[in-house]
Amino acid sequence: MTEHVLVINAGSSSLKYSLVDSDSGDAAATGLVERIGEQSSHHVHHGPKGDFEDDSPVASHEKALEAAVRAFETYGPALGDVDIVAVGHRVVHGGSQFAAPAPVDDALIAAVTELVPLAPLHNPANLEGIKVARRLLPDLPHVAVFDTAFHQTLPPYAYRYAVPFDWLKEYGIRRYGFHGTSHAFVSERAAQLLGRGADQLNLIVLHLGNGCSAAAIRRGNSVDTSMGLTPLEGLVMGTRSGDLDPAVHGHLARVAGQSAAETDRILNSESGLKGLTGENDFRELTRRRAAGDDRARLAFDLYCYRIKKYVGAYYAVLGTVDAIVFTAGVGQHSAEARAAALSDLDGLGIQVDPVRNTATTEGVISTDGSRVKVLVVPTNEEWQIAREALAVVRG
Ligand code: AMP
Repeated sequence: MTEHVLVINAGSSSLKYSLVDSDSGDAAATGLVERIGEQSSHHVHHGPKGDFEDDSPVASHEKALEAAVRAFETYGPALGDVDIVAVGHRVVHGGSQFAAPAPVDDALIAAVTELVPLAPLHNPANLEGIKVARRLLPDLPHVAVFDTAFHQTLPPYAYRYAVPFDWLKEYGIRRYGFHGTSHAFVSERAAQLLGRGADQLNLIVLHLGNGCSAAAIRRGNSVDTSMGLTPLEGLVMGTRSGDLDPAVHGHLARVAGQSAAETDRILNSESGLKGLTGENDFRELTRRRAAGDDRARLAFDLYCYRIKKYVGAYYAVLGTVDAIVFTAGVGQHSAEARAAALSDLDGLGIQVDPVRNTATTEGVISTDGSRVKVLVVPTNEEWQIAREALAVVRG
């Protein structure tokens, strides 16, 4: 029987799950419970015996996982019929403590709890997912896989900010980076596609989804990444501003009496593409741009320009670049964004082939003459979590 890992990604009002074949990455079943704690929740489950959808209220994460277990029984596969070797939990913030996935025990729960101030929205939800899953599935080993862990290889001059030295010790202020699971998966897969070991390649990975981040990866190790203390820094995102002058907080406090919490909220939830156009869905933005909408054009240009700046910066960081890899919703699907972000970079040996660039599946999209290969690699964070959880369980 093939080995499976139940991958759980608990958000503040959602629980996403996937039963993953750790060898092939295929999902035997997937599901999502949304709007937990609200009047009308939404549960979908896709299993081998059919699809299930339900809008009845789900009061808590515990009830959500109970509903998922019932859906597995009815729509398959029954959890007892599958060789489940671990439960892999996505945990957003592992701070400086976790450079690798780790088995869940009381000490890990305490450590992740201590990190809540660094990820006040995400870590409490992730912890809730871990706690209810341990209660409901006590006989399985549980493993925490951290979004920050892959970037723990950054050197101090890349992860430190130029702020008072003791802010790191006192407040944990440094660059941690996120999307590590995706960057790890995509860089390994890109190496396979290029027929080389990840430890022989220098890569720039561009994860462009609702959240966006770039990573400079030298011989398999992340040496710089665009997200920082929180996922707010770096590229322009669906609703997040990315880089901006840190003086903006103080300025808005002075001229508009706006609280730090409100500015924080706006920069995270009302900025980025949404702030510029009212729209955070890249497909809609693309449609509006094509129809001649000025704001959509500006947002698109700003978004792609920011990516290009990071490509240039990470090119310099790495010295030589073997490949640039696009992934996540926009990275995988938007030929326009890829072409614009890498336009006019022939001088750096980067040339996107306009025909190959229409691809939305895995493959090389650069010209044969391009010194730096450009690839599209769909990410698969669930599979990466499954593989990492399995590696921990096997020791
Ligand atoms: P993700 O967070 O990886 O699910 O990516 C979500 C983003 O990808 C959203 O902004 C979507 O609009 C965008 N996206 C998904 N499909 C496409 C597509 N075919 N073309 C352009 N953007 C897309």
